[in-house]
Amino acid sequence: MKKLATYYVFNEALTPLSEVEKPLPPLNDGELLVGIRYTTLCGSDLHTYCGLRNEPCPTILGHEIVGVIEALSSGHSGLDAQGHPLHIGDLITWTVFASDPNTSSYQPEIPQKNENLYKYGHRQISDQDTFHGGLATHIILRPHTCIRVLPKDIDLAVAATINCAVATAAGALRLADSITGKNVHIAGMGLLGLVTVAMCREWGANEVIVSDINPDRLQLAKSFGASHTVDLGESESRCVLQTFSIDRFIDMSGSPNAMELGFETLGLHGCAVLVGAVFNQRKTGIDAEKVIRKMLTIKGLHNYNYTDFFTAVDFIVENGQKYPFASLIEREFPLAEVNEALEYATTHKPIRAGLFINPTTEQI
Ligand SMILES: [Zn+2]
Repeated sequence: MKKLATYYVFNEALTPLSEVEKPLPPLNDGELLVGIRYTTLCGSDLHTYCGLRNEPCPTILGHEIVGVIEALSSGHSGLDAQGHPLHIGDLITWTVFASDPNTSSYQPEIPQKNENLYKYGHRQISDQDTFHGGLATHIILRPHTCIRVLPKDIDLAVAATINCAVATAAGALRLADSITGKNVHIAGMGLLGLVTVAMCREWGANEVIVSDINPDRLQLAKSFGASHTVDLGESESRCVLQTFSIDRFIDMSGSPNAMELGFETLGLHGCAVLVGAVFNQRKTGIDAEKVIRKMLTIKGLHNYNYTDFFTAVDFIVENGQKYPFASLIEREFPLAEVNEALEYATTHKPIRAGLFINPTTEQI
């Protein structure tokens, strides 16, 4: 008897996803079957859906996922990344990528940049390769996926965001070196920005200055620990930022204007970390003389490494209820209403829209 599973296929921009129901394939060596419980729609899912970025199609979108182990293949170690035994029924999170350390291009600091990376929510569906995205009842985790077991009482919607937004925010602050006692300016108060604010607050930053063009987002940032807000739509925003001695600038906005202002207002020996600009846009200007005279450092981060993933899991387990993370999933839908969820997310632009997936027992 085979278990039936469902996934939703993205074929082309702004076109409703189509439902596919089929039996789950047998697991290959080292694989693990997860029953998805919750998927949040990340900004990059929406960019793909709207045609602002290209993925090989047909594909299954969704990579901010949390789920429960339904089966382990015989070749799987049976352990999570901390060496804890994995059991059927365990709630788990996992890296958005599977990265084979035996590949010649593998660099332990940046496993997310390995060749032949297997990236969930970003793959073309083929006869041999499916169940790799979050808009589905099930996902098959491939060998070399880093897994962590989560507490059973964790908020599922918040837990779903760990393996993209939260881990990426953790990576940004790792690259920013120590933020303890530093004045940090964070631009862009989407989920990445808000998580970064809460992390700065928990990890001992001095002033946490946030900027955005949306006054509601700035207000929201205060509940995550922002000490000062700067409305980038206001003409005096440059002067306001210049009143601080800013040590770190983290850009989550992807806006060239915000990045240029962030560089300009960075203090002596400051460090900027760029994360948000992962879509097509105009080039960002840098005043090389200022970079030299102020001895600035500018770094880029794409996705995250294992250290960041661990930091993200621990951060949400410890602080997930201390800040209003759950309120950021502004509306949730059952998986069967995925097209309504996409419509809502692209029209209303919430911080996140969520999809909950109830366990199925249907078999053929
Ligand atoms: Zn994402």
